[in-house]
Amino acid sequence: MAQRLLKFVSVDKAMPAKRGAAERRHDFGEIYGEFDAERAKQQAGRCSQCGIPYCQIHCPLGNNIPDWLMLTAEGRLEEAYEVAAATNNMPEVCGRICPQDRLCEGNCVIEKGFDSVTIGSVEKYITETAFTKGWVKPPKPLRELGQSIGIIGAGPAGLAAAEQLRRKGYQVHVYDRYDRVGGLLVYGIPNFKLEKQVVARRHELLALGGITFHLNFEVGRDASLAALRQRHDAILIATGVYQARDMACPGIGLGNVVAALDYLTSSNRKGLGDAVPAFDSGALDAAGKHVVVVGGGDTAMDCVRTAVRQGALSVRCLYRRDRKNMPGSQREVKHAEEEGVEFVWLAAPEALMGEGAVRQVRAHRMHLGVADGSGRQVPQPLPGSHFDLPADLVIMALGFDPEDVPALFGAPELGVTRWGTLKIDFRSMMTSLDGVFAAGDIVRGASLVVWGIRDGRDAAEQMHRYVQAVGQRLQGAAAADLAGHAVRAHRIRHRPRRDAHAGFLASQSKRSHPRARIRRWPDSRRIRCDPRLSRRGHGLSAAGSLRARAGAAVAVLRAVQPRA
Ligand SMILES: Cc1cc2nc3c(=O)[nH]c(=O)nc-3n(C[C@H](O)[C@H](O)[C@H](O)COP(=O)(O)OP(=O)(O)OC[C@H]3O[C@@H](n4cnc5c(N)ncnc54)[C@H](O)[C@@H]3O)c2cc1C
Ligand code: SF4
Repeated sequence: MAQRLLKFVSVDKAMPAKRGAAERRHDFGEIYGEFDAERAKQQAGRCSQCGIPYCQIHCPLGNNIPDWLMLTAEGRLEEAYEVAAATNNMPEVCGRICPQDRLCEGNCVIEKGFDSVTIGSVEKYITETAFTKGWVKPPKPLRELGQSIGIIGAGPAGLAAAEQLRRKGYQVHVYDRYDRVGGLLVYGIPNFKLEKQVVARRHELLALGGITFHLNFEVGRDASLAALRQRHDAILIATGVYQARDMACPGIGLGNVVAALDYLTSSNRKGLGDAVPAFDSGALDAAGKHVVVVGGGDTAMDCVRTAVRQGALSVRCLYRRDRKNMPGSQREVKHAEEEGVEFVWLAAPEALMGEGAVRQVRAHRMHLGVADGSGRQVPQPLPGSHFDLPADLVIMALGFDPEDVPALFGAPELGVTRWGTLKIDFRSMMTSLDGVFAAGDIVRGASLVVWGIRDGRDAAEQMHRYVQAVGQRLQGAAAADLAGHAVRAHRIRHRPRRDAHAGFLASQSKRSHPRARIRRWPDSRRIRCDPRLSRRGHGLSAAGSLRARAGAAVAVLRAVQPRA
């Protein structure tokens, strides 16, 4: 092993081949190529197999990184894929778009002076090889279960949960208001970071595995949450956050001032071949325009780089803090700079100017003042520092807030936090509604794909526990009821006819007759949780009712037991 590993002292860090900026400015293809087998082995072999793998600790999925690096260095790729896939439902996606500089790679202990191992690229290489070789299979349960799960949202969180639950055997239904599966992976993140076919491939696998997708299905419009709860044994809400944050600034209502997600979605749809009137009219097309993007997160980075590719005359990014304090990935800033984007750090818009449509952004310089309660220095305008930038298109990328989910879903009793995200019990991941769980951005606020996957997996585990617990309770109660019914029905069936008549008369006055005993049956023995077991309202005779309830108990037992 030692021969193949610990190579960081003799082998330099290398990324897969990156296309030159001049070339990639003109298309939406991914900017990195892939490792070949030899290069992947070499780079994986730079791992020092340290005693405490900080890379693993800082990966939200707790990926077993040292093991898959070792297996790759040894050329055991199928095993490497098995290890990578054991903790991650989309390693090929995370390998491409995780901000590794802040997560696994940023915490690699050989970083100082030697540069970290290229973990993300090796992860992508392993998974792409697995797809090519046919090692990636649809989720196939060992046994089918009768219970059904409804998942609202086909983004990373919903898809990860769907796959985990399907593997356990549940009948999984995913509802999404978009016409394609993937959420922000498809309509937010541009192709040059993640090609759509990568997401479509996962969709196909999940559908082949038996997950049912209901697309163009908006919960709140096409069905209420209550209706879905009737349909399924448990529900997961993974709807992400979509309400664009706004800023108070004179001129914000001018034409050609657009929200980042509208802009990115139209560009992504255009790339997918959809008809996009707002793009075709030029309103959401940066071609031939001076573009100013306001914001410093991943969304802003995607906007500036999209504008470059659409043929903008100039692209500037205005951010009120400095480079060190921006939330977006440093790697993305570097790519954007290479592609010709100009970053205007420590600057914020003061007013948007123009007649009808924006023509200019008046900005002022900022400085970082004292830290607030969150520990971040607060940007403050420098008086008299304003300057003007030409702008035919201003894209606001200031972040996202959750929509009003309780109102949209017709479920006012669904608890939310003061930020509008769904409130859950962090151990059970259940919302304030019994059997309704939540995961991903709608719980965390705008976050990362890798966290969405992690939440989806955790929620799937908790939903499984919940459904099994309900099933066992039902099963136990049904079994007890069944035994009780059998004994009583037997007694009634075999009692002497005369006695029965006499008993019936006696039951008018005495409470010792079998029917009287049935009537006195304590409430606690009834299975109140399943209406199928209720005798009330059936208008059956005592023995008939008992038979019906015994039949219902058998039905419940069958439903909660695995099918062969
Ligand atoms: C422009 C942009 C770039 C990003 N870049 C990166 C990056 O490089 N790396 C990274 O790790 N993260 C990135 N992120 C963040 C990442 O995309 C999200 O954190 C992640 O997608 C959240 O997953 P989710 O499943 O919670 O929600 P989403 O991906 O938002 O999926 C939610 C799904 O729910 C559906 N939905 C919503 N409401 C309803 C309803 N009422 N009925 C039915 N369906 C509904 C939506 O249509 C959507 O498909 C980026 C985000 C944006 C906006
Ligand atoms: S999932 Fe993301 S953080 Fe984890 S190892 Fe892969 S690239 Fe790194």
